[in-house]
Amino acid sequence: MATHERAEGLDFVRTKVAEDTRTGRYDGRVHTRFPPEPNGYLHIGHAKAFNLNFSIAEEFGGLCNLRFDDTNPTAEETEYVESIMEDIHWLGYDWGDRLFYASDYFQQLYDYAVDLIRRGKAYVCDLCPDDIRAYRGTLTEPGKNSPYRDRTIEENLDLFERMRAGEFPDGARTLRAKIDMSSPNINLRDPVIYRIIHAEHHRTGDKWCIYPMYDWAHGLSDSIEGVTHSICSIEFEDHRPLYDWFLDALEVYHPQQIEFARLYVSRLILSKRKLLQVVARGHVDGWDDPRMPTLAGLRRRGYTPESIREFMRRVGVAKTDSEIDVALLEHCVREDLNAQAPRVMAVLNPLRVIIENYPEGQVEEFEAVNNPEDPEAGSRTLPFSRVVYIEREDFEEDPPKKFFRLAPGREVRLKHAYFVRCKSVVKDESTGEILELRCTYDPETKGGDAPDGRRVKGTLHWVSAEHAVDAEVRILDYLLREPDPERDAGAELDDLINPTSRTVLTGCKVEPSLADAPPGGRYQFLRQGYFCADSVDSKPGAPVFNRTVSLRDTWAKIAKAGGR
Ligand code: ATP
Ligand code: MG
Repeated sequence: MATHERAEGLDFVRTKVAEDTRTGRYDGRVHTRFPPEPNGYLHIGHAKAFNLNFSIAEEFGGLCNLRFDDTNPTAEETEYVESIMEDIHWLGYDWGDRLFYASDYFQQLYDYAVDLIRRGKAYVCDLCPDDIRAYRGTLTEPGKNSPYRDRTIEENLDLFERMRAGEFPDGARTLRAKIDMSSPNINLRDPVIYRIIHAEHHRTGDKWCIYPMYDWAHGLSDSIEGVTHSICSIEFEDHRPLYDWFLDALEVYHPQQIEFARLYVSRLILSKRKLLQVVARGHVDGWDDPRMPTLAGLRRRGYTPESIREFMRRVGVAKTDSEIDVALLEHCVREDLNAQAPRVMAVLNPLRVIIENYPEGQVEEFEAVNNPEDPEAGSRTLPFSRVVYIEREDFEEDPPKKFFRLAPGREVRLKHAYFVRCKSVVKDESTGEILELRCTYDPETKGGDAPDGRRVKGTLHWVSAEHAVDAEVRILDYLLREPDPERDAGAELDDLINPTSRTVLTGCKVEPSLADAPPGGRYQFLRQGYFCADSVDSKPGAPVFNRTVSLRDTWAKIAKAGGR
């Protein structure tokens, strides 16, 4: 067993699991599950939940099931089922042959409900949804018994059977557990366990017109599957007494529910309901839009599975909710890409530079290392010729103090190539716009070093105009604006959306090795950040890149200030 011989240094969930394996509870077995509802794509909050469930199983030599909680026929779709499986696999987890659907248990769940009625612990209620709510009471006032609470077992069995047979319209009747209308825990005030919904289910079609509620389906599915530790997020804490009540009332195998804090990340929308709204209202192109905090979106943006797992490791597992700064997530992907992404030259906002003393028609090839962090990554060649592009912002006609890049009369290094000096600026006479620069190069500085030991303060990235490939580059920001508690209080989601979450740059010039960048290929554009070839829109010869993250690591500063 156990990587965890001792409980020290473990989070509270693992401590509990370690304790149970030590004492032989559940015969020392560890069996977890991840139960997503297939009503949307997984976001990074879900990744925390399944990362925890799958890794605990792995660490304790146990098993983890994937179970689709598909008990609500109206919201669920096969597209979501498929995306969820893809995303879990992408993060490196596998459920083996244990792929389950709560809908597979509909008959068993129905039989359990009949059993509960026979035990005198459930009744068919004719109150409409509004009345059920009104009878439920509030946090400060107890509820009232339903007038249908004391129906006989026979009558309940008959009515429940007829609910199933389709005799009644939606909402006409429910099956409710008979618990305690004055319980301080509202979840125990005779909760509904079955409701009537005449709707096609994505797997069972029209076989059923009554559907179990989450609390009924969830605990019993755990029990049916022999789950030992049912690990879920903190909002289910108040449901635990009900989880326990159902399993005790039926006298069936009883797993234990353990709750942990949900993941919240600044600037990220981590609610499926809201993300669905963002997609439906066209704020993004779809669930896998690289601005989305879904795993599909993060993948398309260039995040690696390792970086997300590292983020989870650093966030840890706690009992109380707290918000994580999105800078930590960025930090994790930056660290990972720094180690593995090849460095390339890409000019996002090109300015032509003519090197007047460089022979027309001559082309030289310079060797460039792919990744100074990784000696195995090798090198490639870069063509150099008389006309190159540099970044427009790397030139200032009238440079401010501390501007060490190109300016009239100044010399800089073109990385891996030569020193060049700016001789003159060619402008559009009517607009004053800078059209191109005229420079000279020093042939003695081949490869980027001066034999006379002379130094330059700036090193620029560049591409040869003749060899450059046109590319589109998308600079991405967060979907949520910078938070402002005063302005945002009570605001609608639509008002919180950042209007400039995507800036599309066309006519960028990238080095020739990027012409056929494979979809999903990840690079560091020197001095610009980490970029990923878009898996949908990038085509051979016409690459499209998303900026995964900039180079500036704000986390280091935050961590320092916070003493982390
Ligand atoms: P959302 O609140 O985004 O709609 P959900 O809880 O309704 O999500 P489910 O498909 O029911 O979505 O979630 C599957 C599992 O993922 C649940 O056990 C839930 O506890 C967990 N989960 C969802 N969001 C988070 C989060 N932000 N942090 C940690 N766990 C989460
Ligand atoms: Mg849920």
